[in-house]
Amino acid sequence: MSALRFHELTVKRVSPEAAGSVAITFDIPPAELERFHFEPGQFLTVKAVVDGQEVRRSYSISSPRSRLAKKGELEIGIRPVEGGVFSNWAAQSVKAGDTISVMPPDGRFVVKKQRAIHRVGFAAGSGITPILSIAATTLEEQPESKFTLVYGNRRMSSVMFNEALQDLKDRYRDRLTLIHVLSRQAQEVDLLQGRIDGDKVRAVIDALLPVKSMD
Ligand SMILES: Cc1cc2nc3c(=O)[nH]c(=O)nc-3n(C[C@H](O)[C@H](O)[C@H](O)COP(=O)(O)OP(=O)(O)OC[C@H]3O[C@@H](n4cnc5c(N)ncnc54)[C@H](O)[C@@H]3O)c2cc1C
Repeated sequence: MSALRFHELTVKRVSPEAAGSVAITFDIPPAELERFHFEPGQFLTVKAVVDGQEVRRSYSISSPRSRLAKKGELEIGIRPVEGGVFSNWAAQSVKAGDTISVMPPDGRFVVKKQRAIHRVGFAAGSGITPILSIAATTLEEQPESKFTLVYGNRRMSSVMFNEALQDLKDRYRDRLTLIHVLSRQAQEVDLLQGRIDGDKVRAVIDALLPVKSMD
């Protein structure tokens, strides 16, 4: 399928994120906008030659759908993994103006119900990327919708996309609820301390998110 070929995209911006992570923004030329149209939650496959070896990895799109239409931008967030080939190369070496091979968006981690009154997302660490795109797009495109994000990290200083989330919170004060669960920083409430596992999800839902309120 021609749609799943690699295409050369220019890196427009590289922004530092928490704990050595980076947000990489690609410039999508007008002629390629349709090809790179995406459903929030989808990912891009990127390819590069690192230390003489060709490597391919997938990274979820973190930007909202509107940014592609308005600015011709697609953003991914990469957190370096210890000993990881691509993530460390990307975090250290990629800069604005570079060209990277990128496949059009793909993936099925997308909302099934197009309109919703209250969406809830659970994310931990770099797993925020697809959820951020879904949250921002929901809040922008559906003025009647609320979004609750339960986001697990070690400590506040390692929260990826914290600034983007704060911007969303400022813009949608009454419609976005952010619940941080931290595993290595004391929280005033026990419920918000620890890792997000099955018990934590059940406890958060019991205390804060009546099942009937969620779409
Ligand atoms: C759909 C999808 C979406 C994703 N979205 C994101 C995202 O938004 N952000 C993000 O940061 N990541 C995301 N990922 C993960 C990403 O694709 C990469 O897997 C990640 O960046 C690590 O790649 P790497 O090349 O740095 O690590 P790799 O080189 O693949 O290594 C991964 C780990 O395995 C270890 N390892 C490698 N080789 C060996 C070996 N021979 N023996 C023992 N251990 C070994 C390494 O030390 C390292 O800890 C996503 C993955 C998928 C599938």
